[in-house]
Amino acid sequence: GKKQRLDKVLSHIGIASRSEIRKQAKQGLITVNGAVVKDSSVHVDPYTDAIEVGGERVLYREYVYLMMNKPPGVLSATEDRKDRTVLDLLSTEYAQFEPFPVGRLDKDTVGLLLLTNDGKLAHELLSPRKHVPKTYEATVEGEVDSDDVAAFAAGVQLEDGYVTQPAQLNILSRERGTKVISHISLVITEGKFHQVKRMFQAVGKKVTFLKRVSMGELKLDETLPLGSYRELTAEELGLLN
Ligand code: URA
Repeated sequence: GKKQRLDKVLSHIGIASRSEIRKQAKQGLITVNGAVVKDSSVHVDPYTDAIEVGGERVLYREYVYLMMNKPPGVLSATEDRKDRTVLDLLSTEYAQFEPFPVGRLDKDTVGLLLLTNDGKLAHELLSPRKHVPKTYEATVEGEVDSDDVAAFAAGVQLEDGYVTQPAQLNILSRERGTKVISHISLVITEGKFHQVKRMFQAVGKKVTFLKRVSMGELKLDETLPLGSYRELTAEELGLLN
């Protein structure tokens, strides 16, 4: 990339004013590639030089793309009066970009949530016309059977009258205790409110655990603990475009 003045780069991202940055540099609070830089007029490549202010890495780019393994109990909204949101889980390093969740997962749903400030990409992924497939894994009370597989493939009528698009239901396993419990995966290409739960409700069954594992070609990194996130790799980002 092109070299620019450090104070200009940092004020441009909104870290602080140029005079404030000059002061912080004098105090030894700013490092570039690990070395303290006391003169904030030095030239840096904001894309490739590792710049830290007060020990926190500064990221210089227009867009961020984060994959989160959403934990239960957190809203996939940008703000809420009483509940914690997924944005509250982000460090300032990423929060400064003001990313937002691409689509919604219920408060109790876990798994793949993409966060970005790239409105165009978000729009494309969410557009009903694009039919981006989303894969869920769920635990369902009751015995999910081949009738349900056929019903989901044909489309089921939700309680509001809406008939869902064909969806692919797979029975992964069953547990037979006092009650039968089924483990399933389901691929849907639309995103109606509470869609998965309502589809099972339509066949008289209840979802007790729901996890999203993929969106389009992008798969949840199963090594991410619940509540953790990371940036998409260039390869993963390519899968979404
Ligand atoms: N379907 C649901 O019912 N809930 C979700 O969070 C996602 C899909």
